[in-house]
Amino acid sequence: MQSKEHLYKLLVIGDLGVGKTSIIKRYVHQNFSPHYRATIGVDFALKVLSWDAETVVRLQLWDIAGQERFGNMTRVYYREAVGAFIVFDVTRPATFEAVTKWKEDLDSKLVLPNGKPVPTVLLANKCDQGIDVLMNNGIKMDQFCKENGFVGWFETSAKENININEASRCLVKHIIASE
Ligand code: GDP
Ligand code: MG
Repeated sequence: MQSKEHLYKLLVIGDLGVGKTSIIKRYVHQNFSPHYRATIGVDFALKVLSWDAETVVRLQLWDIAGQERFGNMTRVYYREAVGAFIVFDVTRPATFEAVTKWKEDLDSKLVLPNGKPVPTVLLANKCDQGIDVLMNNGIKMDQFCKENGFVGWFETSAKENININEASRCLVKHIIASE
């Protein structure tokens, strides 16, 4: 019997149009729509994971509500989150440049009760597009993650369902380890 239960609030942040809503939809509802629809209002989605024989993990994923166009979020939105995904679009270099800005905004407004930053995983989304700004610019992602405090990174595609489950397991593993 699964007797342990965790409820984790996770943030999904990054520039407009990088695929945040699509990633959540793919992860939680197993679907994808090519039609662009900006998120209006704060949106939540719940994903329940059977973590191991004893443990159920409930992930409350917080999508952002169009405020991403301002490049930062309010403390209320970040409050009590225990993990985050920062997403960029591999076809748009400017969205990668914004990643460090998002990380700084997050770390300046939210720390864990033990004073540490919340575990954050970097998602290089739209990897199905065959355009990779990272490779073209010779950016070493492992090193970038180390220098900027990400616990890991994944090339993802909400469209083709690539690496989203893996990225989530990586984040949850770090959250559990930091408790
Ligand atoms: P958000 O503003 O960050 O929430 O981005 P959306 O989830 O609304 O996605 C913006 C656009 O990118 C939409 O037209 C999506 O269909 C498209 N998109 C999102 N993820 C992917 C992906 O992995 N691959 C491709 N090719 N398109 C994607
Ligand atoms: Mg959205």
